[in-house]
Amino acid sequence: MTDTQTFSIASIPGDGIGGEVVTAGLRVLDTVAKLSDGGIAFDVTEYPWSSSYYLENGTYIPDGGLEELQKHDAIYFGAVGSAEVPDHTSLWGLRLAITQPFDQWANIRPVTFLPGVESPLRKADEADLDWIVVRENSEGEYAGMGGRNLSGRGPGNEVALQTSLHTEKGTERIIRFAFDLARTRPVKKVSSVTKSNAQQYGMVLWDEVFARVAADYPDVETESVLVDAMSAKFVLHPEQLSVVVASNLHADILSDLGSALAGSLGIAASANLNPEKRFPSMFEPVHGSAPDIAGQGVSNPIGAISSAALMLDDFGLHGEADEVRRAIEDVTAAGILPRDLGGDANTIEMTEAIVAQLEAIH
Ligand code: ATP
Ligand code: MG
Repeated sequence: MTDTQTFSIASIPGDGIGGEVVTAGLRVLDTVAKLSDGGIAFDVTEYPWSSSYYLENGTYIPDGGLEELQKHDAIYFGAVGSAEVPDHTSLWGLRLAITQPFDQWANIRPVTFLPGVESPLRKADEADLDWIVVRENSEGEYAGMGGRNLSGRGPGNEVALQTSLHTEKGTERIIRFAFDLARTRPVKKVSSVTKSNAQQYGMVLWDEVFARVAADYPDVETESVLVDAMSAKFVLHPEQLSVVVASNLHADILSDLGSALAGSLGIAASANLNPEKRFPSMFEPVHGSAPDIAGQGVSNPIGAISSAALMLDDFGLHGEADEVRRAIEDVTAAGILPRDLGGDANTIEMTEAIVAQLEAIH
């Protein structure tokens, strides 16, 4: 009998479709544990922190909540967002209230093209397309710095300042992370994205740090592209991309574009990593709470299940992670697709198809 490796997971389903997609991902993890024959176990604790929790209690995360999360090996997150709470309140109340104190400074978002899924990028050979957006996740445009009512004058004269913070250390670590990631990939290339023609302080610092770090990785090809040009490149020349590194805001937008190009926001996975492993990392689908389809049981669970695969990678369970990804590909290739990808399988049917395939290939 082998020793069981046990991983402790904090699950935070959150709002809207968060609950159903997190349930789907946990069902897949359950299957991974079952197939390991006692080798792997996941110990899951659910936290009910959501917008309805906030409306009842006046806070998304109760006192001592972060200390509670800190005890786990990873956080599995659904979504946050509700019509009853302003978006910036819910985002800062729950998601950023975890990513910031837990120093999850690297956000990776693979753009994955699945077989059997139609994509707007018809021109390219889709099988050869896959790239990863690496997002600076701790500062930049989302540093939360600035203020309102700064004019000192009356109504109609309000001035608001939203400041971007770019530190040399924060910039360097995310760029190094991107280069290290590129070295693990078939195409060793890093594309750096800025808007340094218009933003002459932070973005120019970014360009300078990129050039300096690049010199340490002579085996990795590089390019620096403005964010507007990169948006066009995502559509017209995605075959030239491998690792794309960008600031908090730019990478946020580009990763949504990438997942839409791959077919739907519903398939995109994301990992918020604390690479030093001083704090647990957080895994979540890129999509939000999708209020338009919440409660109908038709959401696409692939983004959340792929995020669970990234969690398995983080646990060092690469073989298991690859099996989950293969099961997803086999299912879409067989034409079993959820509504957002043009099919008619509901959330549970998609999940069970992936579970059955995982059992078949294991
Ligand atoms: P939030 O404020 O929580 O970010 P949102 O209004 O931005 O919510 P998203 O969740 O970002 O909504 O979704 C944008 C669109 O993509 C919606 O029309 C939604 O139905 C669709 N969508 C997102 N995720 C999925 C999914 N997993 N399955 C199917 N459709 C999805
Ligand atoms: Mg959204």
